[in-house]
Amino acid sequence: MRVVVIGAGAAGLVSAAEAARRSADVILLEKNNKIGVKILMSGGTRCNVTQDTDAVGITGQFAHAQRFLQASVGAFPPAAVVQMFQAAGVPTKVEPTGKIFPISDRAIHVRDALRSAAEEAGVTIRSGTAVSGIERIDDDHWAVATEGESIQAERVIVTSGGKSYPGCGTTGDAYQWLKRLGHTIVAPRPALVPLVGGEHWTRELSGVALQDCRVSVHVANQGFQGPGSKTRTLVTRRGSLLLTHFGFSGPAAMDVSGVMTAADSFSDVRLIADLVPDLTEQEIRFLLTDRSRDGGRRNVSTVLGGWLPQRFANSLCARAVEDCSIAQLPRGAANDLILSLKRLPLPVSGTRGFTKAEVTAGGVSLAEVDPKTMASRIVKGLFIAGEVLDVDGPIGGYNFQAAFSTGRAAGIGATL
Ligand SMILES: Cc1cc2nc3c(=O)[nH]c(=O)nc-3n(C[C@H](O)[C@H](O)[C@H](O)COP(=O)(O)OP(=O)(O)OC[C@H]3O[C@@H](n4cnc5c(N)ncnc54)[C@H](O)[C@@H]3O)c2cc1C
Repeated sequence: MRVVVIGAGAAGLVSAAEAARRSADVILLEKNNKIGVKILMSGGTRCNVTQDTDAVGITGQFAHAQRFLQASVGAFPPAAVVQMFQAAGVPTKVEPTGKIFPISDRAIHVRDALRSAAEEAGVTIRSGTAVSGIERIDDDHWAVATEGESIQAERVIVTSGGKSYPGCGTTGDAYQWLKRLGHTIVAPRPALVPLVGGEHWTRELSGVALQDCRVSVHVANQGFQGPGSKTRTLVTRRGSLLLTHFGFSGPAAMDVSGVMTAADSFSDVRLIADLVPDLTEQEIRFLLTDRSRDGGRRNVSTVLGGWLPQRFANSLCARAVEDCSIAQLPRGAANDLILSLKRLPLPVSGTRGFTKAEVTAGGVSLAEVDPKTMASRIVKGLFIAGEVLDVDGPIGGYNFQAAFSTGRAAGIGATL
């Protein structure tokens, strides 16, 4: 039986190898001259392959896709991914954040291991071959169109990724083909993407990183009152937030970006930052009014500088009050500062778009795909895996894990 796999990324390489190991004649088509381009650039060229957790720890991070991923991630969890790379001569290490990388810190070792595994299994890899469409000939046959050639196959696996970082070859080509075959495409939108916005003073602090803050996205029209209030919090993330000349970046901002792009308009959602998540309002109030240590002679900006980068502390302080000593700090200004520290609104008007989005949210509707085999429920002989599906997870190796697990399920499913 011939299986054609479209797209030699994380999902495609794994699915092609799995199908070939089960005696299929597998052709893997890749439009770029190089395979696995996103693997090569991932994790700052170190490739964060997965997260140090179990299957439930992975699927729990996938919001609406959680249930869909249970079967495939359960059958091929992070431990199996680590084992796969170990067996291929790429041992991995766990970093304090739980992210798993190759010990060598080189993404190319990950890509090469996946390519070798596919080739050893008997996969024919054809790079520099863009697919322009797929057509069902009859119940058991497909025609995959490439420039100047039509390749026939009994089964087709689509692993062509989303439409983010289009320079990598991921231009969302498959959405049209799959739509024509009857699939529903949930509108693709950028996720894990830097946010455009900020105010003059935050943009002036471009390059400053707030290493540990908690950002949350709230429904705007419900009048956010702060932590503990009854307003709907759509998502919360704790991590580092980077101020930039265009707005906000860093893991905390990027992780919540997909929830913001899901809103009809950016004016429907509010991004709020808790800049000192380890301190309660009461503790801050105490520290901003404490005269016991030196009679309150320390400057307010110095106290804030103990919690935040000094440049940021100075600017935040300047917004509320002319810098003064703790003893001179007016009560109203102290209240303003506490509010800014615990509930700083970060205005957001957009994102950097697909060009700078690490993943694409939206894609092939999960209701139309069998979660065990990745078989299309709409057309026989078609399998769909990886980021082309309506699946997107946070930073931390979750997206590669989903691509490996769904890719493997499709490779096996296509040979049943
Ligand atoms: C800068 C960056 C850093 C990232 N870092 C990480 C990380 O460290 N950890 C993590 O988990 N995730 C990371 N991601 C996300 C991760 O790369 C993706 O989620 C993952 O690559 C998806 O795998 P995939 O196989 O579904 O798609 P892709 O890896 O995108 O592969 C799809 C392939 O299909 C090919 N293709 C597309 N159309 C056609 C066509 N018409 N014909 C032939 N071939 C075609 C493409 O060229 C591409 O090679 C990162 C993403 C980016 C952009």
